Amino acid sequence: MRTQGQLVERLKSSGVVKHADVERAMRECDRKHYVDSGIPAAYAYQDSPLPIGYHETISAPHMHATCLELLREHLTEGAHVLDVGSGSGYLAAAMGVMVGDTGKVVGIEKHPELVEQSIGNVRHDHPELLDDGVVELRAGNVLGDALDGEEPFDAIHVGAAASSLPDVLVKKLAPGGRMVIPVGSQWDYQVMQCIDKDEGGKVHKHDLMYVRYVPLTEPGEVW
Ligand code: SAH
Repeated sequence: MRTQGQLVERLKSSGVVKHADVERAMRECDRKHYVDSGIPAAYAYQDSPLPIGYHETISAPHMHATCLELLREHLTEGAHVLDVGSGSGYLAAAMGVMVGDTGKVVGIEKHPELVEQSIGNVRHDHPELLDDGVVELRAGNVLGDALDGEEPFDAIHVGAAASSLPDVLVKKLAPGGRMVIPVGSQWDYQVMQCIDKDEGGKVHKHDLMYVRYVPLTEPGEVW
């Protein structure tokens, strides 16, 4: 595949991209802007994870698409969204396209250097998302106090695997909101879990699929 359009067509024909809003967001965010500049352009459109530096990776396009599909009913105009482990910035930008001018996506990433890199990536692809304050990417550890007072979030995407479901994130979810998060051992496959908080604040969990993610690290923990 040589273009973002071809990549999205492939994801549509394999049934991963199902809805028009997800398709539009993925067409509008061109993966070539989010992969390491040393990587040949053709690799950007393969459906596999790629290194982005600092021992981290940009997720495979089918995982980006799967998470956008799972969260899409919560990524509506004006929604308040959290992207944990925003890495390359790809998913934060795609969610920014979905929530529109009145929405807000906060991406949090523990490597400050990656945050700078991701801001550059989004600036190449969609500068208006940064200029209009729809996407904000910042350095911090989500398991620390970096986001205190900014909850609740209508949608939370977690791009790194937690050993168990972090209560601190469940608390940040708005009533009616949804979180997708890989949960399990860092030495094995993990289970992608969908966490729904109903209007009464009750939490419902279900397991979706086996996945393999880098670990969600505690403050001060080195991986
Ligand atoms: N969705 C991103 C995935 C990046 S990989 C993308 O496709 O580009 C997951 C990221 O989570 C890594 O960059 C890692 O540094 C970050 N991370 C891990 N634990 C974290 C934590 N506790 N707080 C914030 N970021 C974390």
